[in-house]
Amino acid sequence: MPSAIRGIHHITAIAGDVQQNVDFYVGLLGLRLVKLTVNFDDPGTYHLYYGDELGHPGTILTFFPWGAGHPGRIGTGQATVTSFSIPEGSVGFWTDRLRRAGVSFTGPTRRLDEQVISLADADGIRLELVAHPGAEDRPGWPEGPVPHEHAVRGFYGVTLSLADSTATEQLLAEVMQFRPVAAADNRRRFTVGDGGAGAYVDILTHTADARGLVAVGTVHHVAWRVADREALVAWQGLMAKAGLRVTPVMDRKYFQSVYFREPGGVLFEFATDPPGFAVDESPRELGTHLMLPEWLEPDREQLESVLPPIRIPAVGGGDR
Ligand code: ZN
Repeated sequence: MPSAIRGIHHITAIAGDVQQNVDFYVGLLGLRLVKLTVNFDDPGTYHLYYGDELGHPGTILTFFPWGAGHPGRIGTGQATVTSFSIPEGSVGFWTDRLRRAGVSFTGPTRRLDEQVISLADADGIRLELVAHPGAEDRPGWPEGPVPHEHAVRGFYGVTLSLADSTATEQLLAEVMQFRPVAAADNRRRFTVGDGGAGAYVDILTHTADARGLVAVGTVHHVAWRVADREALVAWQGLMAKAGLRVTPVMDRKYFQSVYFREPGGVLFEFATDPPGFAVDESPRELGTHLMLPEWLEPDREQLESVLPPIRIPAVGGGDR
């Protein structure tokens, strides 16, 4: 067996307006924009990475902004909810903050061992802020717009909505080495590696719901952490052996990846922990300049002329 999957590496979703997206995830949720680059497969559009201070694996939510006019549909065969960790003592802070920003939410509600605030971004991406013991020990962004004691501490987990979960659960448990840890109502929770926050996947089975359509307002894929290239290639081989169509290894500059569609319809990726986001700009400057891979540098001027300007919300000190 290759070394274990370590949990969620990143989650990638599709946004409409890019400025609205930055204002929500940096200005309101207090994530740090750790990388501003382009979609390597469609370089005339941005790819934004939000995370903790350094964009550690397990904290990274990324967006392809497609602009207006490409609405998707949330449904089965998708990752339908992205959940972030917050400290147990921060529930009141967050409900106040959302209320003051005019963002509607439900909760806090109790589920298993946690308290959950449910909300959506302006494009309809479903999010949760999950308060749980030990969240405060995870890194956040000390200099962000949210006081550090209350800051988001990376991912808690991801929820997959499936028409039939049998084959997906079999893949998770028998091939990817996930183990079931909890169940309630229609929810079955699995974890992997060392387990815990950042390594949960919840499966909801919705046999009657329509299949989702991946476009603006939906999640594009979920990437799982692997230690290094050797582990990546080993997992790639195991997926092929399990009968799944898996891509060649791709160089995403900040990690290396392979992609495959799990049997329930969700696009999965394996992504390496190294090299990370400080490979092309200093930790201090992360996200402050448009970064391009070497093969796109010759096109910088042309790309900068077609990409819309972005204003990053002022940060530092915490706007209490
Ligand atoms: Zn990805």
